Amino acid sequence: MSPTSSSARPGPTVGIRSENLTKKYGSTVAVDDLSFTAEPGVITGFLGPNGAGKSTTMRMLFGLIKPTAGTITIGGRDITDLDDPARTIGALLDARAVHPHRSASDHLLAFAYAAGLDRRRVDEVLDLVGLSDAAGRRAGEFSLGMNQRLGIATALLGDPGVLVLDEPLNGLDPEGIRWIRTLMRDLAGEGRTILFSSHLMSEMELTADNLVVVGQGRLIAEATLDEFVRANTTQAVAVRAQSPAGLGLALREAGVAFSTQPDSSFLVVGTDSSTVGKIAAAEGIALERLGPVRESLEDVFLRLTHDVTDFEGRAA
Ligand code: ADP
Repeated sequence: MSPTSSSARPGPTVGIRSENLTKKYGSTVAVDDLSFTAEPGVITGFLGPNGAGKSTTMRMLFGLIKPTAGTITIGGRDITDLDDPARTIGALLDARAVHPHRSASDHLLAFAYAAGLDRRRVDEVLDLVGLSDAAGRRAGEFSLGMNQRLGIATALLGDPGVLVLDEPLNGLDPEGIRWIRTLMRDLAGEGRTILFSSHLMSEMELTADNLVVVGQGRLIAEATLDEFVRANTTQAVAVRAQSPAGLGLALREAGVAFSTQPDSSFLVVGTDSSTVGKIAAAEGIALERLGPVRESLEDVFLRLTHDVTDFEGRAA
């Protein structure tokens, strides 16, 4: 038996496919001609800044919002055409969407009953998400992390082959984040399709196999995490001189672009340490530090989505 399933076989493992998906709200284009796939057996990270259209896309997948144009399907079918939706797809769209006075087990029993599932599955999923001891407590008393676990238990009730989780790592402590990561890894390892969204690249970096990167509703990149890193990270050099002003002048005269870091060191993009060292040596500038740095994925993500960020804090 699998670690996450009550039966030897989870629900059908089919992929998700979005084709030219578009949703307009008046003049706002929430999702703009978006095409991507999430395949079985891998964790697909749906990444984009807040307002990029991730939730809207997921809600269209579940038929909660009607697309203006295009389709998003599960194994080639619209959700309303699935033979056995509860066994096919599970979702965590809003962890707070629980009745506050209902206990965790009653919340799950209501779902199990509505979906025609065996009530024994409720105890299994409570155990799976680590909520067995809190089964009788009212969901209204739960922390955000416990609500996330309850939401995931709900998504897993039908033992579905496809799981869609909207910002499942939001508000979790490191232990909770580690737990969800391991769970998603186990579920994908069983051949299931996992699509999860986040606005944080750092979370994706440790969790996703494939990335679908969006900004202002549009596809920015669709690639494996490795491909995305290779294609988008650039080599850079960090250098710190005893006289930053002198080094700045020398670099400018050599036509080398750089940015000044908070500690007065320079980040030089698109050249190597040897070139920077030679420029400094030619001017007799003493260096305190010189070496390659790799742009972080967070930096790449911010750069790629910078022009299409719906909202960002601006320094006054
Ligand atoms: P994300 O999940 O990536 O944060 P959303 O899908 O929630 O993004 O939102 C995408 C865009 O659509 C945002 O600009 C948001 O303000 C807009 N939007 C979402 N829902 C509605 C709605 N019901 N009416 C009008 N605009 C909406």
